[in-house]
Amino acid sequence: MTTPDTLRTCVNCDHAAVAEYKPFCSRRCADLDLGRWLNESYTIPAVEPPDDWSEE
Ligand SMILES: [Zn+2]
Repeated sequence: MTTPDTLRTCVNCDHAAVAEYKPFCSRRCADLDLGRWLNESYTIPAVEPPDDWSEE
């Protein structure tokens, strides 16, 4: 059983995906998914100045 690309649904939501943003339905969904992937892949440490940090 094969599914034509035109009937593919967005991997981020259930809207129909479009070829331009495949496998997403829109730029927004593509960006959202990419952002989520990056957040899960990279742990950004909180940058806090040390207690004795002085600004000079
Ligand atoms: Zn979508």
